[in-house]
Amino acid sequence: MSDLFFPFRVIVLGDAAVGKSSLLRCFAEGPSGGTATPCPTVGVEFYSRTVPLPPAGKAKLQLWDTAGQERFRSITRSFYRSAAGVLLVFDLTNRASFERVPEWYREAAGEGPPAFVLVGHKCDLAAERAVSAEEAGQLAATLGMAFVETSARSNLNVELAFQTLAGGIQRAL
Ligand code: GDP
Repeated sequence: MSDLFFPFRVIVLGDAAVGKSSLLRCFAEGPSGGTATPCPTVGVEFYSRTVPLPPAGKAKLQLWDTAGQERFRSITRSFYRSAAGVLLVFDLTNRASFERVPEWYREAAGEGPPAFVLVGHKCDLAAERAVSAEEAGQLAATLGMAFVETSARSNLNVELAFQTLAGGIQRAL
């Protein structure tokens, strides 16, 4: 049987400049490099894409970009509440962005999105790395989520991060 789950709202959280918008755009444009059409709304952009859910399902993801609001700490509680899944992103070359992950998690998890994935982004910058895979994996395990390393620049694991989140949303249903 083929199941279509839709639409699930996904938000991408993390410090400014960790690469949230780039990650979203990279995913929204798809593996074949299609064109994403962002839909600007009240200070938030969204894209939509369907991902396969093994073995035979699909999930439609509505992808919300916080569009710089993290700078002002003005992401509203209803925004968190409406999300089915959260990508918690830090920059592998920016240790402070990693150290802020628990804070982002506490803030969002209190409002109840059921599924989270920890994303260590910019893994193409191996020489500038400031956070090891081991410690990021440990933090993810402590917070009860999977950990994926991604690069939008090299298009590495971007699909995997969103598919892992879709799987988590499916399990949480
Ligand atoms: P946001 O503020 O979290 O949405 O971050 P942006 O998507 O605007 O990206 C911030 C900066 O990081 C920009 O200069 C991007 O070009 C850069 N960036 C984003 N993704 C990657 C990546 O995968 N690798 C590298 N090396 N730089 C990236």
